[in-house]
Amino acid sequence: MQPDAKIYVAGHRGLVGSALVRNLQGAGFRNLVLRTHAELDLCDPHATRAFFERERPDYVFLAAAKVGGIVANNSYPADFIRDNLAIQSNVIHAAYQNGVQRLMFLGSSCIYPKHAPQPMREDVLLTGPLEPTNRPYALAKIAGVEMCWSYNRQYGTKYLAVMPTNLYGPGDNYDLNTSHVIPALIRKFHEAKQQGAAEVTVWGTGTPRREFLFSDDMADACVFLMNLPSEKYDGLLGSDESKTGKFEPPLVNIGVGNDVTIRELAELVSEVVGFDGRLVFDTSKPDGTPRKLMDVSRLNAMGWSARTGLREGLAAAYQAFKAL
Ligand code: GDP
Repeated sequence: MQPDAKIYVAGHRGLVGSALVRNLQGAGFRNLVLRTHAELDLCDPHATRAFFERERPDYVFLAAAKVGGIVANNSYPADFIRDNLAIQSNVIHAAYQNGVQRLMFLGSSCIYPKHAPQPMREDVLLTGPLEPTNRPYALAKIAGVEMCWSYNRQYGTKYLAVMPTNLYGPGDNYDLNTSHVIPALIRKFHEAKQQGAAEVTVWGTGTPRREFLFSDDMADACVFLMNLPSEKYDGLLGSDESKTGKFEPPLVNIGVGNDVTIRELAELVSEVVGFDGRLVFDTSKPDGTPRKLMDVSRLNAMGWSARTGLREGLAAAYQAFKAL
């Protein structure tokens, strides 16, 4: 990307979108196009098309999506599938019609089958049943990958999908009912410390394993991939299976390549926050899937690996939480 390239970050107020803006601004990109949800409703095809015709961005990071935890996904499945299908279909088509050079479509690791072998490679996509609680969201995202792939094949576009592992960082959702484990634990340990409580309750048995990526590292990986020279970038855009016989979606996993148990995570958060009490495991709460780890060899082979260690990332996330 040239320093004066026009870059549209869709969803710039979210966890990843805000990290993308920090990263791009830090790298000297000054020509960013940003719209809040109130300014531009990406579910509206006419508004989206008019926006692209007016702005004609060179690059698009599609980080706008309807996202939420298990409770939200379970309560509003129709909203999750409808909004996500609409957003991606409107943006991808408008990008094609207006000559966007490269587009990056962001999803999540839940697109992969529930019982995929670990670590999960990109080509386990569509090999088995999905986790039912977020299947509407996951299917929309799978359709987004297929759309990028189809546009690349039919129109020669250069659209790439990236799937991050569990993310955390500044601007996370700290609502205990809907948040993921890291923001929940940061908040619980912080409040326990303030109140001088003797113990903190962690959900489940503490034995599930999860991989965690700091949002600034996620943004760094996205910008790195977007900036790859054509000889490397074009090789990621998905093969035409009818010609190659190979199932190679235009998909790159973004993760750190290692995981920790929830108990190890909880101990680390308690140290970072400075809580001295005990951990109690509430086994009446669900553990969820036993392990979720990405295979990141495709990304590593391009020359990128995560920089921020878990302790360091948790400390930064905790600072951001305290500043709220
Ligand atoms: P998942 O990766 O889709 O399972 O999503 P979560 O981030 O919500 O949960 C990851 C693991 O952390 C699960 O085993 C949870 O039971 C466990 N966990 C422990 N304490 C908490 C908590 O306070 N909130 C959440 N969301 N998960 C917790």
